[in-house]
Amino acid sequence: MRVAIIGAGMTGASAAHQLRQSGAEVVVFDKARGPGGRMTSKRVESLDAALPFYPLDFGAQYFTARHPLFVKALQGWLAQGVVQRWEFDPYVWQHGLLLPSHDGQSRYVSTPTMHQLVKTILGDTPLHLNCRITELSFSQSSFSSKHGGEWTLSSAEGASYPGFDAVVLTCPPAQCRQLLAEHPLALQIAPELLLPCWAVSLQLQSAVEHPADGIFVKEGPLSWCARQSAKPGRTGITEQWLLHFNAKTSLQLLEATPEELVALAQLEFSTIVGQKVEVSQSLCHRWLYASFNPAQPAPGLLTDKTQQLILAGDWSLGGRVENAYLAGQQAAAILLP
Ligand code: FAD
Ligand code: NAD
Repeated sequence: MRVAIIGAGMTGASAAHQLRQSGAEVVVFDKARGPGGRMTSKRVESLDAALPFYPLDFGAQYFTARHPLFVKALQGWLAQGVVQRWEFDPYVWQHGLLLPSHDGQSRYVSTPTMHQLVKTILGDTPLHLNCRITELSFSQSSFSSKHGGEWTLSSAEGASYPGFDAVVLTCPPAQCRQLLAEHPLALQIAPELLLPCWAVSLQLQSAVEHPADGIFVKEGPLSWCARQSAKPGRTGITEQWLLHFNAKTSLQLLEATPEELVALAQLEFSTIVGQKVEVSQSLCHRWLYASFNPAQPAPGLLTDKTQQLILAGDWSLGGRVENAYLAGQQAAAILLP
């Protein structure tokens, strides 16, 4: 079986790994420059001339593991050294107070950046990067296919990739809908399954004195603040904080300028840590499709068995890295005999 996977995030990597282990031929396509999807890092300028740039996690910050299948995979990654436990004691900002919020939850990061895990899972899977798929077409009754048809993918660059027995689509739902055009599966995708998030990195002139390394923010415009140097395996990172705006504010500020976002982030963060922070460098990244909308039920994987087309993503099972991994495993299980 020859399978095309669109999206080199955690879902795509997980599906690719499982399918290849069972002997399928897999090709992965992604519009981005590198694999990782929302477990990505961006190159951030450093003030240290010896290390002018370093990567910083702008998307997923850590993950938890609850499902036995994911826990088992995690054991392997820990043994390989691609994942480490991030032992930070969470703080919570609520009712105008920053307080410890110890919970005993184990949290994990991939090292040296979050996208390294996706890269490792993909291994030597054939991968077309900088390749935005713009069209999927299915032609019936090809003699070469066991499944009564064959998929051809077309890219924005004008390339054509024929000869696939199955397609696994792992883009965010809105992008799946665009790609599916008139296909009946498009109608099954609920709108607004994923909500936006502005991520802002602040490199500070001096260290935050408060001992908190990771803060769950329950009021105001932010949702999360984390001292990136506190994560295991992040060498060379100085006093660099990554802040996420909550979904409601991100939606309201969707078209805000970097200056507006940084000013607001700096003000809020100063209030939370109780210290006026001075910013030496900053970077903003807008995620249009970030977190699962809690007002929606998780739809599960959407499948067209006749055409061997599967829509799978973190959103299928309710968001988060763990669910992306599980969605990839489920997609592979549907296709495997
Ligand atoms: P994605 O990672 O979105 O992968 C989809 C891929 O498809 C992308 O690489 C995209 O480039 C590609 N693509 C889309 N359209 C096309 C096309 N037409 N052609 C080719 N390629 C295409 N989860 C946690 O568990 N813990 C966290 O702390 C956490 N924090 C987060 C913070 C932020 C700001 C964000 C954005 C997400 C966070 N998440 C977190 C969620 C987590 O990142 C996701 O659940 C997970 O990475 C989703 O993986 P995925 O493969 O399903 O989707
Ligand atoms: P988790 O159990 O650490 O966190 C889940 C949520 O529970 C947190 O967002 C937080 O609101 C709350 N929480 C957890 N521990 C807390 C504590 N000690 N004190 C106060 N509140 C606490 O991790 P998870 O279930 O694997 O969730 C993944 C994380 O990814 C969450 O933090 C989620 O917000 C985050 N995420 C963020 C985005 C985004 O767009 N910014 C997108 C997807 C996921």
